[in-house]
Amino acid sequence: MGLKKKIIVTGGAGYIGSHTVVELAQAGYEPVIIDNFCNSRRFVLERIKTILSRPVECYDCDCCQIDLLRKIFTAEGKIHGAIHFAAVKAVGESAHKPLLYYQNNLGSLTALLTVLQEAQVPYFVFSSSACVYGAAKSPVTEESPVQPATSPYGNTKQIGEEITADLVKSGAALKAISLRYFNPIGAHSSGLIGELPLGAPNNLVPFVTQTAAGLREKLTIFGNDYPTPDGTGIRDYLHVIDLARAHINALEYLEQSNAAPGYAVFNLGTGRGYSVLEIIKTFEQVNHLKLPVVIGSRRQGDVAVLFANPDKANRLLKWQTKLTIEEALRDAWLWQKSLAAQT
Ligand code: NAD
Ligand code: UDP
Repeated sequence: MGLKKKIIVTGGAGYIGSHTVVELAQAGYEPVIIDNFCNSRRFVLERIKTILSRPVECYDCDCCQIDLLRKIFTAEGKIHGAIHFAAVKAVGESAHKPLLYYQNNLGSLTALLTVLQEAQVPYFVFSSSACVYGAAKSPVTEESPVQPATSPYGNTKQIGEEITADLVKSGAALKAISLRYFNPIGAHSSGLIGELPLGAPNNLVPFVTQTAAGLREKLTIFGNDYPTPDGTGIRDYLHVIDLARAHINALEYLEQSNAAPGYAVFNLGTGRGYSVLEIIKTFEQVNHLKLPVVIGSRRQGDVAVLFANPDKANRLLKWQTKLTIEEALRDAWLWQKSLAAQT
């Protein structure tokens, strides 16, 4: 038991974090969650326990509270690495509450990095986003320049990457990776964990599943006059389980790559773009449903096309997506139905 490598997972009760905790535990690590449940629920811990047949340790703590973080690190002893998911993530809200976003997302990052340094934790993984590429031409590689952020949320990801890179550059005994996620969708195939519907969804697939469940009257396509084959926006959707697995590859890379630079960024996507219409059609096909759909105007700040060139992650992290869009959309619907069954 004591020999397992402990990984601090901030935001581990959240959507991507909870799936990553499960994958970490199944890969032989010992995840330790730190979450303040500002966008998640405690029952997620019970669900993780059911999937794993054992509990995972969790501290109810705001990661901005450095003194509390210090206490956790002291209590936990030797920590092998940390994955920092904890952040608030609603792009639209961030325009109205920029200080909340800067304080929470950057305050938690700097507090965590400070404690990691003090505790001499060697490995760190930061949750970044494909939104750093703005309207760059797809497929985007990690060499594509970072564009000026279009929202305070996006800016916290850019600055978060820079803070992490600067710390590594300063000679700190820390190796770090920023993972630029494209569009995670789907849920655990058990139907026990998934994205929680707290507030109105911001993303396409939760909108699709809530509309299919009758919780929303109709789905609005945000623009069908983009310069794409069917006029609707194109994104790179990956199954959240594939995304979760990538964090283990990232830790292994940090552990093994003694010669590699201390800091690196990786795109995490499938390399294939799907339009909004293709997502709707595929969802309808795999789940044998029909969605009420209307065409609306473009959403401010949206780009027409964004998908990854994932070659660097394929090559260096030895990671690639395994699950299909059909599986992801089936699991998303399974999760929505299991949520409905609970209420
Ligand atoms: P989520 O909201 O489901 O999970 C985030 C978790 O962090 C929640 O459980 C929340 O309670 C917790 N949290 C937030 N602030 C905290 C704080 N100060 N202290 C402790 N806990 C805190 O979000 P998610 O979709 O799982 O996203 C995880 C990470 O990935 C975030 O950093 C997000 O910005 C990033 N990301 C997500 C997407 C996406 O589409 N979901 C895309 C790109 C990047
Ligand atoms: N989208 C849509 N209707 C919705 C939500 C999203 O047409 O109700 C479109 C959006 O314009 C984009 C794609 O779906 O082209 C993915 O949007 P999402 O918010 O999920 O991801 P992001 O834009 O952040 O990549």
